Amino acid sequence: MSISRKVKKVLKKFPYDISFVVDEGIVLLEGEVNSHQEWVKIGLNIGDIKGVKGVVNEIRWKGMKEGKTRAERRENIASKNERKRLGKHEVVIIGGGIIGCSIARELSKFKVDVALVEKGPDVSLGQTRANNGMVHPGLAPSKGSLKRRLNVRGNEMYGELCEELDVPFKRVGSLILITSRTLKKYKRYLPLGLNTGFCKYILPWLVKKKADRNRLKGVEILRGDDIKKEVKGVTDDVISAVKIPSTGIVDPYELTIALYENAKKNGVDFYLDTEVVGFAKEDSMIRGVITDKGVLGAHHVVNAAGLYSDEIAELADTKEFTIHPRKGVELLFNKRIQDDVEHCLTELTLPSHPTSKGGGINPTVHGNIIWGPTAKEIESKKDTSVDKKDIDEIMERYSKVLPDFPRSEFIRYFAGVRAPSFTEDFIIRPAKEVQNLLHVAAIQSPGIASAPAIAEYSVEMLDKMGLKLERDESFDGSRRAMDRAAEMSDDELRSRIQEEQRWGNIVCTCEMVSEAEIIEAINRGAESFDAIKRRTRAGMGECQESYCLLRIADIMSKELDIPLKNVKKEWAESEFFDGTVRGEEG
Ligand SMILES: Cc1cc2nc3c(=O)[nH]c(=O)nc-3n(C[C@H](O)[C@H](O)[C@H](O)COP(=O)(O)OP(=O)(O)OC[C@H]3O[C@@H](n4cnc5c(N)ncnc54)[C@H](O)[C@@H]3O)c2cc1C
Repeated sequence: MSISRKVKKVLKKFPYDISFVVDEGIVLLEGEVNSHQEWVKIGLNIGDIKGVKGVVNEIRWKGMKEGKTRAERRENIASKNERKRLGKHEVVIIGGGIIGCSIARELSKFKVDVALVEKGPDVSLGQTRANNGMVHPGLAPSKGSLKRRLNVRGNEMYGELCEELDVPFKRVGSLILITSRTLKKYKRYLPLGLNTGFCKYILPWLVKKKADRNRLKGVEILRGDDIKKEVKGVTDDVISAVKIPSTGIVDPYELTIALYENAKKNGVDFYLDTEVVGFAKEDSMIRGVITDKGVLGAHHVVNAAGLYSDEIAELADTKEFTIHPRKGVELLFNKRIQDDVEHCLTELTLPSHPTSKGGGINPTVHGNIIWGPTAKEIESKKDTSVDKKDIDEIMERYSKVLPDFPRSEFIRYFAGVRAPSFTEDFIIRPAKEVQNLLHVAAIQSPGIASAPAIAEYSVEMLDKMGLKLERDESFDGSRRAMDRAAEMSDDELRSRIQEEQRWGNIVCTCEMVSEAEIIEAINRGAESFDAIKRRTRAGMGECQESYCLLRIADIMSKELDIPLKNVKKEWAESEFFDGTVRGEEG
C-alpha cells in the first residue's frame, strides 16, 4: 500500500478534516483539532507508518498561541544583519549541545575550517544540561532504527573518549527488574502461578535474547538472592532481573565542555551568544549563515539545534519534520547516600511506554542519585516547570522499587525538554531541498549515549556530501580536567596551598570547591555563575548555593573586573543583584 493510502487510513480514525501531502516520504499535515494531545497523537500515528521519513505537523489545535512564527520573527533580524561579515568557514555547525560539540571535535581531526554557532552564552545549555547522564547500552531502541545502531556504537566508544578528554565515566551496569507489577495490565488473563513463571523465566530470557541480538556483552539473568546482593534494599516484589554491564554514567555538561575545549584547542572557532536567524541562499545552496551578529560564509552547514532544529530547517526553506517537545522531570538526592545505589535500575512494565524508555533510578558520577524522568508532551519548548504532581509521581513509582530509600535526602528537582520528531528516530541526513545542509536533528534520548557515534556518522555524511577530508596530523585529542580540592589528599591540598593560598579558601563547603578552582573556571572562559557551577560543581551540593553564591559572585566581580551588580546567573539580564549593592560605589 502506498504511503498516501496508509496516511488516509490513519486519518480516518480521527474525527477531523485533515488534509495532507506526501513528498518523498515527508508527510505535511494541515487542519485543526481540539487539543494539543490530539495534535501529538495524530503526528505519532502518521510517524509510525513504515516508509515515512518525516512528519511536518502544521495542524493547529484549539487555544494554540497564534502570532508570528519564530521563523518570521527571525527573518526581521536577519534582514538587519545580512550585510555584516563575520568570517568564512568550510563547515558551520549550528548548536553547542553535546551533538554540535561532538561533531566539532570530530571534524577538528581533519584539515577543515570549522565554526560552531551557539545562541547561549555557553555550550551545553539545551537538553544537554538537564538529563540523567546515562550511557544507555542500546537495548531499548527499536529494531532497524538509527537510534539503536548509533547507541550501541556510541556506548562502545565512551571509555576511550572520556579517557582522552579526562572526563569521569563509570560503567556501573544496569539492572532491568522484573517484578510482580511487570505484567499488571495482563494479570487478569494469567493465573498467579503462570504470571510468576513467566516473569521468572520467559521474560528475562526474552530481554537477554534482545540484548544478545544487539551485541551487548556479558548480559546475565539474576534471580532470588543474587538480585538482593546486587541491589541494596530492592523490593521483595522482584522476581528476576537482567544485568547489563556495559551501561555507563557520565556528566553530560562536563563532557560537552571538554569536547568544546578540545575542539577549540584544535582550531574550531566558537561563536557563543550568537543566534542563527536566517540563511543567504543561491538556488538550493546555503552560501551564508545569518546570525544576529552578522553573516558567516559556509560551504557546508550542520543543523544540530536540538529543540529548534525544525525551525532551522524552516529558515532554510526545507521543512521536513516537526519537533514535539516532551518534558522530563527529575529528582536529585544528596551525595551522602551515594552508597545506596550502585547500578542504574529500571522496572520493566509491559506494555512498555510507546515513546519513553520509562525512566529509572541512576547513580551519577559525582555521587548523587537521580530518580526520573517523567515523560509528558508539552506545548512550549521552553516549559521547564515542575509541579507537585510530577514529584509525587516519581516518588510513588520508584519507592516501589526501593521501599526503604531515604527519600528525605531529596535536594532538588529539575526538568529537561526532549526533542523528538514524530518518527521518533534520530534524523541524520542531508536536507531534502538544500544540498549543503546536514540535519542532525531529533536527537532525543539516548542522545548522550550515542553522541560519539553520531559525530562519527555525521562526518561520514559530510564526506558523502562532498566535504574534502584530509587527516590533520597535528590534532591533539587530549585535554586536562581542572584539578579539584575535593579529590586531593590532605597532603596534596596542603602542598597546593603552600604554592597558592587560594586553594585554602573553600568557597563551596558542600562540594569543597576552592577559590583557586573558581578562578581556573573563569580563566577557561566561564563568565556567569552557572558556567562556573558547571565547571567546578560549586553550588550543586546540599545547600544548593545558599552558602557560596555571594562568595563566588564577589570573586567573579574582582576577576572579571565588573561591578557586583553586573554578575550574571547565566543569560543576559539575569543579574542577581538589582540596583546598588551595599559597599559598592555607584
Ligand atoms: C529529562 C531528560 C533526560 C535524558 N536522559 C538521557 C540519558 O540518560 N541518556 C541519554 O543518552 N540521553 C538522555 N537524554 C537526551 C539527551 O539529553 C539529548 O539527546 C541530547 O542532550 C541532545 O543534544 P543536542 O546537542 O542535540 O541538543 P541540545 O543540547 O538541546 O543543543 C542544541 C543547541 O542548539 C542551540 N540552538 C538552538 N537554536 C539555535 C539558533 N537558532 N542559533 C544558535 N544556536 C541554537 C541551543 O541553544 C542548544 O544549546 C535526556 C533528555 C532529557 C530531556
